[in-house]
Amino acid sequence: MNTTCPNCGTDGLEKVYEISDIPTHSCLLMETREEALSFPTGDLVLGWCGSCGHASNMVFDISMNAYSTKYEEVQTFSPVFSGFQSELIDRLIEKHGVREKQVVEIGCGKGEFLLELCDRGNNTGVGIDPSFVPGRGDWNSQGRCRFINEIYSAERHSDIPADLVVCRHTLEHIYPTHEFIQTVRKTIGDNLGTLVFLEIPDQQRVYTERAFWDIYYEHCSYFTQGALERLFLSCGFEVLSSWKGFGDQYLLIEARPLPEGQAPTFRVQEDLEEIQAIVKSFAEDAPRVVRGWQERFKSWHRDGKRVVIWGAGSKGVAFLTTIGVGDELGHAVDINPHKHGYFMPGTGHEVVSPESLVQYAPDVVLVMNGIYEDEIRRQLAGMGLEPQLISV
Ligand SMILES: [Zn+2]
Repeated sequence: MNTTCPNCGTDGLEKVYEISDIPTHSCLLMETREEALSFPTGDLVLGWCGSCGHASNMVFDISMNAYSTKYEEVQTFSPVFSGFQSELIDRLIEKHGVREKQVVEIGCGKGEFLLELCDRGNNTGVGIDPSFVPGRGDWNSQGRCRFINEIYSAERHSDIPADLVVCRHTLEHIYPTHEFIQTVRKTIGDNLGTLVFLEIPDQQRVYTERAFWDIYYEHCSYFTQGALERLFLSCGFEVLSSWKGFGDQYLLIEARPLPEGQAPTFRVQEDLEEIQAIVKSFAEDAPRVVRGWQERFKSWHRDGKRVVIWGAGSKGVAFLTTIGVGDELGHAVDINPHKHGYFMPGTGHEVVSPESLVQYAPDVVLVMNGIYEDEIRRQLAGMGLEPQLISV
């Protein structure tokens, strides 16, 4: 067990939460139920660092990583999500003048953010991600964007020039976070005009809302606002802005490299004492919340209720595997058509389209992210369905 914080190097992480035998990936497409049920599992022991506020999986095994083109994480089929993404692009173009610039995106997924940013700002882009799949979407910028199907590495990709480095929902998948941000700083070198924009989930909300479905194997690193700011300041950056977005679910940060030897002036969120208390109450209360869900599923099953979850991504996988749901659940619904007909790692539930619910007629729909509740209610009503909707 690694008790040293990978975010600041302090020894003596405090164990706050533990789950065993969980699937090591949540977004890989499983072609058969058997493949999904026999998917490799690992353990997660969440260790909190009292020095920087970061938390990590102390038993994370990087050799379990299997990111590939079978990794399907796209969320932009939701108008709520794509609207949020477009607002971020507005901000980069309007506030930071990202026009006719060179953009590098580390962990670009299927490239939809980079392509839109390059389309609207007439920028040139390089996206790096082992899960990139060509030919999705219809963007004018496709000819100005190049994609590299690899995991980002200093050796192979540090010579790509960048006016803007984007990194969204990637750092939480990286265990040595300090080493990673330090590498980004090194590759920028003397190009002090380079802007770095990074986005990740906010773990303070997870603790406060007892959102155990947001803790899973793929995420080996968990940040609060202060932990993220401390990381950037300790790696030779000045923080320009640090805020929360998407219904306060995400942390967003903009930073610029500092010349060597120059100290940052940004004042960090002094949240350690507050976070420590929240972490403690999460550790005490999370098992009770999990048991509560187990009881609800039992009672629905007893009453013959047809129950589905809406959202077959990581939250859905973690929700079902942590509670230990089997036949009590009918299906997992997702609006991403690339997921339909595949099976969820761990529990083996089939991922179906929203339209298939017309036939299934569920009594209960569990919404895996409350921010989509209105969008989902409208879609269900459009199909003549009015099941009980519960946001977890
Ligand atoms: Zn630390």
